[in-house]
Amino acid sequence: MARRSKAARPAKESRLKSGADGETVLLVWTDYVGLARCRGVPVSAFKDRHAHGLGWAVAGQALTPFEDIAPNPWGPMTEVRQTPVLATETRIAIWDDAPAFHFALCDSLIAGQSWDCCVRGFLKKALADLERESGLTIAAAFEHEFLLTGNDLPWIVPFSVEQMRVVAPFTADLTRALLAADVGLETVEPEYGVCQYEISCGPAIGIAGADRAVIAREVIREAARRKGFRASFTPKPTPSSVGNGAHVHFSLVDSKGVNRTFDAKEPATLSRLAQHFTAGVVRYMPEFCALVAPSPVSYLRLGPHHWSCGYAAFGIQNREATIRSCPSPDPKKNAKAFNLELRPPDATASPYMVLGALVRAGLEGIRQKLPLPAILDRDPADYSDKERAKLGVRTLPSSLGEALDLMRKSEVVSSWLPDLMRESYVAVKRKEIEMFADATPEAMCKRYHDAY
Ligand code: GLU
Ligand code: MG
Repeated sequence: MARRSKAARPAKESRLKSGADGETVLLVWTDYVGLARCRGVPVSAFKDRHAHGLGWAVAGQALTPFEDIAPNPWGPMTEVRQTPVLATETRIAIWDDAPAFHFALCDSLIAGQSWDCCVRGFLKKALADLERESGLTIAAAFEHEFLLTGNDLPWIVPFSVEQMRVVAPFTADLTRALLAADVGLETVEPEYGVCQYEISCGPAIGIAGADRAVIAREVIREAARRKGFRASFTPKPTPSSVGNGAHVHFSLVDSKGVNRTFDAKEPATLSRLAQHFTAGVVRYMPEFCALVAPSPVSYLRLGPHHWSCGYAAFGIQNREATIRSCPSPDPKKNAKAFNLELRPPDATASPYMVLGALVRAGLEGIRQKLPLPAILDRDPADYSDKERAKLGVRTLPSSLGEALDLMRKSEVVSSWLPDLMRESYVAVKRKEIEMFADATPEAMCKRYHDAY
């Protein structure tokens, strides 16, 4: 039998290119339930997929986070092309026990055009409208809170050095992986919950803000997996545990990337446009809650006194408000770095839906020239109902069902989504509600923990 001599073995570089090392490139997209789904091709075949991607039956958009599919208008034949956006290609080759983690995010296209139900397309259109009408775009950065389980992690004092060092081999990998993914890694830290951690990344402009969030989340999951942990981004791991938020820091920037959010002479040092933008977000927050906190468990997280947010309100450094403004301690930095934080979102929402809804709401504020809401210097829950009403502070919905009803009743918010997207989105969300109608909160939290 002829044996190939060692010398005949192709060099490592070409073995990699041919996929002989088993490397697969994942074509990744996120859906209505905020999960990253994928199809893979051998690395050697990726180039052939650049132009037209891979087909995907559109009925897949009706998937809940579980095995169930919501009622939908799609049959077995219609397909979108999940088409890779090459600027998002990410390859992390730091593990000895697995081939490189290699993927690219996709647009969902039909005949070369964005499909009406593509969440990335939803954000792109919102950004295009904002730019056309105001000359501005947004720079955005997500914070990623998650819970680690596995490896018999013990109870650990929150925020402690021990909480970091007990998982040091994981955070070392995670840091290397996120630096390789080029997502602007800023902090790696312990959070308040037992075995809860947080990663924050720097801002990216336009669609890249959401791309970066999807990439960071999947890299965190992978780094955890490789070390025998599981990272769960579920909004509420158990009914009584600390929640995981996905807060978004954002600023308005012009076409040259110059920050247009700050004006020292204006209330709360917000530029006029940023005041209108903020007002739009606060005005429509209850009505678009179903797009940014979109699962039944999201409403176990939202509520007063958890720093997650229970009211549509604005405040400077107010962690109980929908929008918290974040001035820098160094006032000289404010012109450049001044940003606002949207607090209600969680990771059961696709980052594209979150930023798309944020941009749409802010744009409504700009169109209607809405005035800046009251600047709350207290926890909104500490006012009486009467005082809140006088300040124009509304309560956020208390369940996904209520949030969906508010969205449907709002002509403005309903109009942000193409009809097909709105109807199919609501159907998936109603299916999730129905699935847990008779479940205990504990059982529901467990399922979402396992899915996210
Ligand atoms: N974990 C909190 C939430 O659910 C946020 C805590 C914080 O301010 O970082 O949103
Ligand atoms: Mg946090």
